[in-house]
Amino acid sequence: MPQFDVDLFVIGAGSGGVRAARVAAQYGARVKVAEEYRVGGTCVIRGCVPKKLLVYASRFADEFEDAAGFGWQVPSPAFDWKTLIANKDREIARLEGIYRTNLERAGAQLIEARAVVEGPHTVVLPATGERITARNILIATGGRPADQPHFVGREHAISSNEVFHLAALPERITIIGGGYIAIEFAAVFAGLGSKVTLVHRGPHLLRGFDEDVRTTLEADYKARGIEILLERTVARADKVQDRLRVTLCDGSTHETDVLLSAAGRVPYTQGLGLAASGVALNERGAVMVDEFSRTNVPSIFAVGDVTDRVNLTPMAIREGQAFADTVFGERPTRVDHKLIPTAVFGTPEIGVVGLTESEARAQYAQLKVYKASFRPLKATLSGRQERTLMKLLVDGATDKIVGAHMVGDHAGEQVQLLGIALSMGATKADFDRTLAVHPTSAEEWVTMRTPVA
Ligand SMILES: Cc1cc2nc3c(=O)[nH]c(=O)nc-3n(C[C@H](O)[C@H](O)[C@H](O)COP(=O)(O)OP(=O)(O)OC[C@H]3O[C@@H](n4cnc5c(N)ncnc54)[C@H](O)[C@@H]3O)c2cc1C
Repeated sequence: MPQFDVDLFVIGAGSGGVRAARVAAQYGARVKVAEEYRVGGTCVIRGCVPKKLLVYASRFADEFEDAAGFGWQVPSPAFDWKTLIANKDREIARLEGIYRTNLERAGAQLIEARAVVEGPHTVVLPATGERITARNILIATGGRPADQPHFVGREHAISSNEVFHLAALPERITIIGGGYIAIEFAAVFAGLGSKVTLVHRGPHLLRGFDEDVRTTLEADYKARGIEILLERTVARADKVQDRLRVTLCDGSTHETDVLLSAAGRVPYTQGLGLAASGVALNERGAVMVDEFSRTNVPSIFAVGDVTDRVNLTPMAIREGQAFADTVFGERPTRVDHKLIPTAVFGTPEIGVVGLTESEARAQYAQLKVYKASFRPLKATLSGRQERTLMKLLVDGATDKIVGAHMVGDHAGEQVQLLGIALSMGATKADFDRTLAVHPTSAEEWVTMRTPVA
């Protein structure tokens, strides 16, 4: 048996890498983890967590507005971007500290440097030239903002990495993209008071989501004053003094203060030495793996966004755990990539689990669609016009619920619980039998009686 410096070398201390490293170390493996930026990865440092903190900040605008209908007189509120960013940064630093401590406590050794793969059992730290041999290597390098789209003046655009550290709240922001990251930042900046323009090349926002969800969100965003320019791309961006002039493919122009490109992410495999080490990548540069997250090189595995399967934190964590259980815990574990509850933290919020209506129609001949669209109770006094949408998709043959979709307050929280029911194979009869909690929005899930289709 060859001698290796460690049993496991993890490249990337993000959601997937940290979980894998901790669990493998707890199984008794000798583990080293390399991180080139900050411990915690995208989710903690410049993704889910800081994003959600900004979302919270932005939603106070609605609260201040709504309060009047309930008798409150709120003096014109003032917002300070610098305070928000400083408080957010303090919280992120605290979380990063927890991630470090957790790795340390588990017995995994952190190396604060970039690492690249040199062969099936060797990694190199380019900064020092140090070589480390490992029985297994785990690639957990995540993703990075795509360089696309290309246009003249692309260098004036920022990505989601930089948006968390803008020096000031922009008066105007133009966001390129129609996916969840673009949608979320549009809501954040609109709530904080910026004039937001969304430029998306597709015919509608949120490709892959249920059509009702997409049309509801678009209408709500427009009603909130977000300008949505569909089937358009940015042709060029020119710096004019301290502003940007954005020219679209249709020849129209507008001025903005910040141009944020949120048009997708790509697996972060650039310069990682994978191709030279014989690790197969797909056409998007993602590491190709089997159901146990093993690459075509038997000693090298990959988890999380770098594999471009389902690019969400809980998935990366699940894959990291399954990898450690399989390789170091003698418990071969496959990860199920179906039935994933997920949220888009726009305002209004979206929560979904299971199939969209069009996917469900393609799979089930007797699909029943239940829908509720209503103004929540709070809106009766606040005067807010936005409606909540809830939609249940039921396979008529088995009565099983195959999809649930919501646009409205706390949709993410609601869909987390629906996810439990759906993963247990809940039927419409199970929902019907459940007593409502009154008065809530969530009670609609158990009181929808008549299918609309
Ligand atoms: C703006 C934004 C919002 C998001 N919001 C959500 C959300 O609300 N919910 C959700 O579930 N997901 C969200 N995501 C996605 C989520 O962040 C990712 O799915 C998750 O972080 C993937 O984890 P990972 O371990 O694969 O990679 P990451 O968390 O990206 O970690 C990879 C780590 O590897 C390091 N690294 C890369 N290459 C090297 C190298 N060669 N040497 C050393 N270190 C290296 C990186 O610095 C990074 O720290 C969001 C993403 C973004 C960008």
